[in-house]
Amino acid sequence: GKKTTASIEEQRRGLPAYRFRKEFLSAVEQYQLLIVVGETGSGKTTQLTQYLAEEGYSDKGMVGCTQPRRVAAMSVAKRVAEEVGCRLGEQVGYTIRFEDKTGPDTCIKYMTDGILQREILLDPELSKYSVVMLDEAHERTITTDVLFGLLKKTIKRRPDLKLIVTSATLDAGKFSEYFLGCPILHIPGRMYPVDVLYSREPVSDYLDEALQTVMHIHLTEAPGDILLFLTGKEEIDQSCETLFERMKALGPSVPELIILPIYGALPTEIASRIFEPAPSGGRKVIIATNIAETSITVDGIYFVVDPGFVKQSAYDPKLGMDRLQVTPISQAQANQRKGRAGRTGPGKCFRLYTELAYNNEMLPTTIPEIQRQNLGHTILMLKAMGINDLLGFDFMDPPPTNTMLTALEELYALGALDDEGLLTRQGRRMADFPLEPALAKSLTAAPDLGCADEMLSIVAMINAGQTIFHRPKEKQQQADQKKAKFHDPSGDHLTLLNVYHGWKRAGKSDPWCFENFIQPKTMRRAEEVRKQLVQILERHRLKVVSCGRDTTRVRQALCSGFFRNSARKDPHEGFKTLVEGTPVYMHPSSALFGKTAEHVVYHSLVETTREYMHNVTAIEPKWLVEVAPTFFKVAGKDGLGMSKRKKA
Ligand code: ADP
Ligand code: MG
Repeated sequence: GKKTTASIEEQRRGLPAYRFRKEFLSAVEQYQLLIVVGETGSGKTTQLTQYLAEEGYSDKGMVGCTQPRRVAAMSVAKRVAEEVGCRLGEQVGYTIRFEDKTGPDTCIKYMTDGILQREILLDPELSKYSVVMLDEAHERTITTDVLFGLLKKTIKRRPDLKLIVTSATLDAGKFSEYFLGCPILHIPGRMYPVDVLYSREPVSDYLDEALQTVMHIHLTEAPGDILLFLTGKEEIDQSCETLFERMKALGPSVPELIILPIYGALPTEIASRIFEPAPSGGRKVIIATNIAETSITVDGIYFVVDPGFVKQSAYDPKLGMDRLQVTPISQAQANQRKGRAGRTGPGKCFRLYTELAYNNEMLPTTIPEIQRQNLGHTILMLKAMGINDLLGFDFMDPPPTNTMLTALEELYALGALDDEGLLTRQGRRMADFPLEPALAKSLTAAPDLGCADEMLSIVAMINAGQTIFHRPKEKQQQADQKKAKFHDPSGDHLTLLNVYHGWKRAGKSDPWCFENFIQPKTMRRAEEVRKQLVQILERHRLKVVSCGRDTTRVRQALCSGFFRNSARKDPHEGFKTLVEGTPVYMHPSSALFGKTAEHVVYHSLVETTREYMHNVTAIEPKWLVEVAPTFFKVAGKDGLGMSKRKKA
């Protein structure tokens, strides 16, 4: 109704960005390139795009705004649609991988940085846009870093395109230097002081300490909501439950504590609950990944609990692949987290580490992703854009040469690059799929093997994003029994295929899902992903044929992408990877757990108490030699060894 519109209008005018509107718009008019720095929550993401649209920039093209995180793209688009007063997908929309919520009327488009990278591959001039805002540049994701270099070229070709780079941190000097000395604008901030309380001694169990701190704040401190930073979904779900139980144990005499999780894989309906105010007399605690560090701002936070850790993906030379690792945050991140407590009034930040650790053990700033992650996907994209001189590419912080060579070598082994390092036909196909190179390879190898239909379903299930199997605490046994019915003797990939086929046979019905402890939402998403992959295959005139019962081919197709992730049974215990000889183990949730598989390929490794293989399929070693002759060779009586030949 009218009243809410008015209050949204009031909220908009109350943001720091509002007083900066005029200055901002005249700077955009004057300069092609601009850096905007402002505290988180000042309105950069939700307001600047609207100012531009209101000023008429969206008449000549869209105002595009990138986000490093999918949830952030969805959440801000939803908010801005509310503020504009339209439905999502009308004037305001978003695009994330495999999901497009934009339409012919869309003038403000939020998207992940990965989507813009794909669009620039297809249209280097970005002719659909009048303004591009590279938001959250301080996050320094690989994709944002690559976009820096690509957009620098685009704006030369398109003098009418405006580029705005926004950052929450004051490290803008470096950005400006890189972006040809462009002007830096500051949104005048409004921050209240935040008291920092350090742990006196190092904390041994940060999870337990964190929950105790939350309870302590809730029971002893003045009103105000709490924000607790944890590292990932499992930790957060578990903590929400523990906290809930502990609160219940205190009985009804204590004030209410609303416990709300927020992380990347959470469906948006749940995610938007974090913005609802706590009931009067009560308090809410938001338990978040570092998504709440800068991408998403919730008003009313007075207390921050910071254990000092983050989960980030980093290249692990021991495993020869990227792996998610829990690592200490940087000082810059610690201060960013602290700042979240001082937006509404003076706040407190509880650091669950010592002041000594802060000063001596934390890096001043986070190492950019591009310097710590596998570059396979990125290099494939750049090559597909015709950028072959990677060492000469205009990176803000160039990746280490070694990392680059490893990625080149991998792409060569996948058949994506030729001897000269140029993209092959196979590589060109792979680059067209928004998938990691290994999955793209498996999928593009499938038509020749006559199993594209099956591979499509498997890849779609893997990329459906959220968990497929529902395993409620009180019905675990029942859920496991149901899941076992889908288990395929050859492993998890074909188990996923069995689920997909079962779902289709049951007419894609929700009751079937509930009965089988399968998340209907994930299935629908998988179907959507599948549809989009089919389109790309068809564009390349690749035939979507089925191999029927002969699923050996599916496993061969998997080998052609995942030969690096192969392991063989260790006579003593578990498995050893073929490439590096690292010990790895079958995850208890795998269809192959407790079965006798000699050789396997796996999709990824997850470290908990030890390295567990996820999504595992039994294979025959001779397939590895067939699909990756430069990588493996037939050697000795064991039949399989690592090839010594390396590609420079
Ligand atoms: P910045 O990008 O500068 O960090 P934002 O534009 O994201 O700031 O946020 C501006 C304001 O909008 C904040 O006060 C935030 O709480 C509010 N906001 C953002 N998303 C939502 C939402 N989904 N619901 C309610 N308020 C929101
Ligand atoms: Mg923002």
